[in-house]
Amino acid sequence: MPLPRVLVLAPHHDDTALSLGSTLWTWAGAPIPIHVVNCFTRSAWAPCSETHGSVEAVSSLRCREDEAFLSSLGGHTRATNLGCLDAPLRRPGTGVFDHDEETIRSEARALVEALQPVVADHRHDLWVLPMGLGGHVDHVITREAGLQLAADSPIAFFEDIPYALPRAPEEICRSVGEIMRATGLELNLLETPFDDDRLSAWYTAVRFHESQFTNHEVLCIARALLDRGGEHLWTTRAFRERLP
Ligand SMILES: [Zn+2]
Repeated sequence: MPLPRVLVLAPHHDDTALSLGSTLWTWAGAPIPIHVVNCFTRSAWAPCSETHGSVEAVSSLRCREDEAFLSSLGGHTRATNLGCLDAPLRRPGTGVFDHDEETIRSEARALVEALQPVVADHRHDLWVLPMGLGGHVDHVITREAGLQLAADSPIAFFEDIPYALPRAPEEICRSVGEIMRATGLELNLLETPFDDDRLSAWYTAVRFHESQFTNHEVLCIARALLDRGGEHLWTTRAFRERLP
């Protein structure tokens, strides 16, 4: 069977590195073709860069950081940047964790429209979406838009790092249960345990996003990921069966 083509929907430029850095490194080595679509790529958030606060400078810096990360994975990985405004720019004065169902519904509709031409142009076998753990509005919207577009494709959800880290395993299982009830999907945990190579791949991936984190912050997240055993994906059986 030919290698599957993977589509990853990422809310922000650093989400694939944070949540899937070692998973993508493993897949890219297979070599599975990976298409990352970054959704909310207009941003002024770059706390570790002097460009912080400037939409033009930050958006282009974060694009370059992510491009450098993805090209380090090899020739079968590419990115599309949708150019939607991130939550602080789109909804000034509203916290990124504050939202209601109607907000999610209407913003997911808008994101579906923006994504449609991108996903219609390419054939994707496997879809990877954020779980929305912790409730960051951009992550929840991306999950909901992805669910509408993925239709019957095999699907997986990544645990959103760093928002998943303070959550107990039972709390994450409850969130998985809610997604299963809402979608009718049967999901099981696919772990990518960190060995030295995977930990190093994850660290390298996140360090490309220098504008976002100090090295100390990256090391703290790495320690927490090691403690929980590495990266977690919740997948359907069809998804697991298509992986080599
Ligand atoms: Zn994010």
